Amino acid sequence: MSTTAHTLIVGAGAIGLLTALSLAEQGGSVTLLDRQAAGRESSWAGGGIVSPLYPWRYSPAVTALAHWSQDFYPQLADQLHQRTGLDPEVHTTGLYWLDLDDEAEALAWARRERRPLSAVSMAATYAQVPALGPGFERAIYMADVANVRNPRLVKALKAALARLPNVTVREHCEVRGFVQQGAAVVGVNTADGPLLADRVVLAAGAWSGELLATLGLALPVEPVKGQMILYKCDEAFLPRMVLAKGRYAIPRRDGHILVGSTLEHAGFDKTPTDEALHSLMASAEALLPGLARAERVGHWAGLRPGAPDGIPFIGPVSRHPGLWLNCGHYRNGLVLAPASCRLFADLASGRRPIIDPAPYAPDVRLVQ
Ligand SMILES: Cc1cc2nc3c(=O)[nH]c(=O)nc-3n(C[C@H](O)[C@H](O)[C@H](O)COP(=O)(O)OP(=O)(O)OC[C@H]3O[C@@H](n4cnc5c(N)ncnc54)[C@H](O)[C@@H]3O)c2cc1C
Repeated sequence: MSTTAHTLIVGAGAIGLLTALSLAEQGGSVTLLDRQAAGRESSWAGGGIVSPLYPWRYSPAVTALAHWSQDFYPQLADQLHQRTGLDPEVHTTGLYWLDLDDEAEALAWARRERRPLSAVSMAATYAQVPALGPGFERAIYMADVANVRNPRLVKALKAALARLPNVTVREHCEVRGFVQQGAAVVGVNTADGPLLADRVVLAAGAWSGELLATLGLALPVEPVKGQMILYKCDEAFLPRMVLAKGRYAIPRRDGHILVGSTLEHAGFDKTPTDEALHSLMASAEALLPGLARAERVGHWAGLRPGAPDGIPFIGPVSRHPGLWLNCGHYRNGLVLAPASCRLFADLASGRRPIIDPAPYAPDVRLVQ
């Protein structure tokens, strides 16, 4: 497809926004559609750890995207900051995993992948994180893990797109289905009427499966609800990220502490619940007892786009020429976004891909 092609992207979360930026930088024109304001769903709700929670439990397909992205994140944040004046606040704190059952597997993975993850004494851990609760017995630590302030990341991406003459962002424009010419997809039907394009990209997060079902395709992406709570503390309260029993605390630079998250299969319901609130508070106070006295300033839920094994769908759908996917990033869409969107743009332009695209190819994983 020529570099002057017009692309429509459905969904302005982190994936749609960064796909738009990557394609626009190659010269084509891009229209990005969202049924609400950009970046208000999972990409806003997430914690923003720039790593899978337990990276050694994932397939090489997820690891490849994660490593490329982790290396690129500081550069992406700098570029966005310079271009827009908005700082996505990539905060490299390192991460402690406490009392893991599969510590040996984690350390073996780190040796294989050459990641700076090692076992540390509890004395050193308590010295680094004085607010940590009592009773933890083992820790491993990876120094280069960052978190990104994802609501600011999506704001900065939107502002960067607003500065590009070849990009249009249409918010509050719902996509209801696809315009077809035979098997080819040549546009989308929106609440405001049809829009045509050379290429249509589905980046609608947890809702991608619903839209693809209108073509009779079964995309195994389902909503997985996650709830988080937010505290405000002193900036020095928590210098590192900590994680135990599936629950984590993430310090932002200004002393906000996010604690997450639940993993719930509740359809498209995003209502925060008291049960999750109490469970998250109990985890927060076990990890960091000082949070019992801290101000709690938020509680929300988001819907992760859950795909099998957390492997996203990236690339064209050959039985519907013109239709492309970039969706299904499950628990890792923020960390995987830079590599996924760069890989997408490589495939769309015929450039040599940054990594082998085969594991993410939609064709073999879609059911008709
Ligand atoms: C509690 C929680 C914690 C998380 N923590 C992390 C973390 O620490 N690190 C990490 O990497 N990831 C994390 N994630 C996962 C991450 O947030 C997601 O994988 C990622 O945001 C997915 O991005 P997306 O752009 O695909 O989806 P979304 O951000 O959900 O965007 C999809 C967009 O599509 C739009 N849309 C849907 N249907 C239509 C339609 N018909 N027409 C037009 N627009 C439509 C929506 O309005 C939305 O804006 C977390 C998620 C949650 C919920």
